[in-house]
Amino acid sequence: MRKIGRGKYSDVFEGVNVMAGAPCVVKILKPVKKKKIKREIRILQSLAGGTNIIQLLDVVRDSASKVPSLVFEYVNNSDFKTLYPTLTLDDVRYYIYQILRALDFAHRNGVMHRDVKAHNIVIDHAARKVRLIDWGLAEFYHPKKEYNVRVASRHFKGPELLCDQTDYDYSLDLWSLGCVFGGMTLRREPLFHGRDNTDQLAKIARILGTEQLHAYLDKYGLRMSSELAAAVGNQPRRQWHRLVTAENQHLVVDDGLDLLDRMLRYDPAERVTAAAALRHPFFDSVRVAADGSGADRDGIASDGGPAAGHQASNRSGEPANGSESATARAGAPDEGEHCAADGRSPAASETRADGVDAGEPEACGGAFPPHAARSMAGEPRPGDDSPAMSLDAMNDLVPDATRGGGGPFSGSGMGSLQAVVS
Ligand code: AMP
Repeated sequence: MRKIGRGKYSDVFEGVNVMAGAPCVVKILKPVKKKKIKREIRILQSLAGGTNIIQLLDVVRDSASKVPSLVFEYVNNSDFKTLYPTLTLDDVRYYIYQILRALDFAHRNGVMHRDVKAHNIVIDHAARKVRLIDWGLAEFYHPKKEYNVRVASRHFKGPELLCDQTDYDYSLDLWSLGCVFGGMTLRREPLFHGRDNTDQLAKIARILGTEQLHAYLDKYGLRMSSELAAAVGNQPRRQWHRLVTAENQHLVVDDGLDLLDRMLRYDPAERVTAAAALRHPFFDSVRVAADGSGADRDGIASDGGPAAGHQASNRSGEPANGSESATARAGAPDEGEHCAADGRSPAASETRADGVDAGEPEACGGAFPPHAARSMAGEPRPGDDSPAMSLDAMNDLVPDATRGGGGPFSGSGMGSLQAVVS
């Protein structure tokens, strides 16, 4: 097996599904808290089959350590540092659109990814295949729940993480994707190149300005530490056009900058939603190419309607009324969850070796949060109302990877996922 990735929580290998004769990816988890593993598996199961969401094929475990490994579909990925500088405007439109579809699907199913970044978007450019990977930091969204702000990678952290706004929601992913989009479009990767979390907010403020930052902080009753306030200083707002250069001008169009501006708003409630972004005029040509009838497989109408940013305070893409609560925006999933509010003590937080904060120590155990079984519109998802299987029960079903003489991850476990998820 060829090693293709490595992180604090896993080693990632290219393997072979010997039954199908096809390559696959094996993510061998390092011993971490069971609840974290269960959360990743449960989220991957709940998003199975979603547009451009990496497909979990199987879960196997090593007989000695008992730690599961996750087996995924393989994507012949190109390193983004090599690929991004070669992308055309149409490529950028296409790939950002496809990731928005993945996010829209996740958000409709109650899941925030919380680690959207270029590394986690795998692209087979020849096949124009794209997948959003690494759901290890993803979490189910619950209205009013306080989340750990030590998630995501520094350069992709939204202002809410940097300003300690704990009741964040799906809009975090739109900020992070905005950073990817801006990096691609402006040939500036990373878009906001902070040295540390304090400097990260300072780098953001150098473009978005401090007037809007203060308006955001005041709205939510947030305060910057004196150190943070000093680092941020007083900055005027710069127009996105100011970042256009000879190197990136072939990638810049007004619609693209308009969408970027709607994704990169300090106030999470002002950010465009994934659903609304998919309807933005920037993607008109992608929608036409996908389906001449004007709607793609997700039913996103290519009506070329108004840009979505002004609707962004509504998670379901309806026109904003300016006073909607996060609860309403999330489609008001049921409360009375099994999770307690997070313990956000620093001791409970960890920083991954790759610079990702991975502070969310625990997620819900037990049953699916009720809203995971609903779309954002409150529709039940067929077949999703049964509780998820516990990891212990799963371990009884998942064959030891070394069993069966096929060697670790030789494919002996293929097919058991059906048992795990059904
Ligand atoms: P992860 O720990 O899931 O972020 O994966 C680490 C690295 O492995 C990624 O940055 C990718 O380069 C690679 N990788 C992970 N999953 C896949 C996949 N399904 N297909 C191709 N490469 C992958």
